[in-house]
Amino acid sequence: LSPAVVGLGDGRPFFNESFRDFSFADVRERFAQVVATASVPRVANDTSIAAAERMVADAAQAFEKWRNTDPLARARVLVRAAASMRARRDELSSIMIKEAGKTWREADADTCEAIDFCEFYARLAVPLFQRDRIGRFIGELDEQWYQARGVALVISPWNFPLAICCGMAAAALVTGNTVIIKPAEQTPGIARTLFDILSDAIAAEFPKQFGRSSSGSSASGVVSFCPAPGETVGAALVRDPRIAVVAFTGSRDVGCDILHASAAPTPFASDAQARTSFEAWAGGPHAHIKRVICEMGGKNALIVDTSADLDEAVLAIRHSAFGFQGQKCSACSRLIVVDAEGPKGPAIRNVIHRLVESTRALVVGDPALPGTDIGPVIDAEAQAKILSMVQRAKSEGCTLELALQVPPQALAMPNKHFVGPHIFSGVRAEHSIAREEIFGPVLAVMHAQSFDEALALANASPYKLTGGVFSRRPSHIERAKRQFRVGNLYINRGITGALVARQPFGGFGMSGVGSKAGGRDYLLQFVEPRASCENTMRRGFSPEL
Ligand code: NAD
Repeated sequence: LSPAVVGLGDGRPFFNESFRDFSFADVRERFAQVVATASVPRVANDTSIAAAERMVADAAQAFEKWRNTDPLARARVLVRAAASMRARRDELSSIMIKEAGKTWREADADTCEAIDFCEFYARLAVPLFQRDRIGRFIGELDEQWYQARGVALVISPWNFPLAICCGMAAAALVTGNTVIIKPAEQTPGIARTLFDILSDAIAAEFPKQFGRSSSGSSASGVVSFCPAPGETVGAALVRDPRIAVVAFTGSRDVGCDILHASAAPTPFASDAQARTSFEAWAGGPHAHIKRVICEMGGKNALIVDTSADLDEAVLAIRHSAFGFQGQKCSACSRLIVVDAEGPKGPAIRNVIHRLVESTRALVVGDPALPGTDIGPVIDAEAQAKILSMVQRAKSEGCTLELALQVPPQALAMPNKHFVGPHIFSGVRAEHSIAREEIFGPVLAVMHAQSFDEALALANASPYKLTGGVFSRRPSHIERAKRQFRVGNLYINRGITGALVARQPFGGFGMSGVGSKAGGRDYLLQFVEPRASCENTMRRGFSPEL
């Protein structure tokens, strides 16, 4: 899935890390032991704005030295980080189980994705910095290559607290930018562990230039860790003129605020300043327009056509809607069923019946136990928001087909907030649950009279992230590829779980700006292209030079 780079890792191209197979008793036992003993690093979200600004100063200071390092050595940093994550794989997953409420499989997939980002981006980065000759013109040498942008600010969400944070930070670092990591307030523990892994990898690859600082919070300014509230410290960092790149994944409102704030260019110096200081005239060393990579929400639809194989579809829908409690940007939150006999026709009733009965079989409970399918949602605020959307759906007249009860043992767990899967039918385009991102285990089932109407309904959302179609008609599959306008379209399978490099991930519309994470173009967002043209028909000959 990538070029092989001589001198990097095992010298082979990238391939995905394989998931743990928990059907083997020994794998289960080993994993359970680690889950029992692993502890979440205690991290307070208390970095002040002043401390965050010092991190930016350190990062700006370190930038030139880091940018000028050998790109192959920077790539080796990521391969080292991947190796150390591999060695601590179950521990990292266990931290996420405890801190974010992931079930075993979800946590393991998150760790694998983080390893994949490191291995993949390491292999993509090296060629970017080799000068690429353009054409073969006599007397002229045309070349193109890339350079790092500067200080990158990584603002990550809690729902893939290792993979997404790691992907954005790894991409920025390997392309020669210095990085400040501002993790989500709900999951600073796993982010701290990642920061330590990256810092150790940098120190091991560059022991003289970039050893760990005594404070432990920064690897010589190359990477800094800034656990802090988003609305204050995050917002201040976004507006800092020394930040050249913001890599953000999170909600639409915050993403739009970041895009807006980042649009302001470095202020020009006043005439008086410019006359007295050359630096001020030049706009200072940080004169630039910020580059923002912004991955936001989704309101993803899955279409069940009349020809769908329901044995496959029901399981895929259940997993896409309720996996990790529906807290994935890619989750299925609208199910559109085609039935020519109307909204209460036999086809849609059959899909709902089978889906409800299948969802009843899910086990809600402690995510530290292997048999659990549905763990808690992230916090009390999320629980309240999801339950208020359930109330709204009821008050708007949608039909509640299923509200899976949370068992008493789960309700008794301290500081864990559960919401069982909910399925509503009779949902129309104007209903709130058909329009707003809920980010919880709530599925809206909608009716379409025809496949055309299903496509129109699916496309009628400002979010354009993932989508899916279950159909056995090649002509409908072809139509979906052409007309179902989402970043990631899945056909006859679930719509979550994109693999690095195999399913490059990301949307457009209100789902974000930027190129796909885990895709060929992703790193290009962290660099600036440069070109040179040299006249090689020298006039005269100066051997003494
Ligand atoms: P969020 O927007 O609340 O928070 C994300 C990050 O932004 C956190 O680190 C937070 O501290 C920070 N933040 C908050 N306010 C800020 C501000 N004013 N300025 C700067 N930073 C600020 O999102 P969340 O609840 O952590 O994550 C859930 C959201 O993320 C959902 O909308 C989901 O769809 C989206 N998401 C998208 C993708 C994708 O790839 N498109 C992937 C995962 C999650």
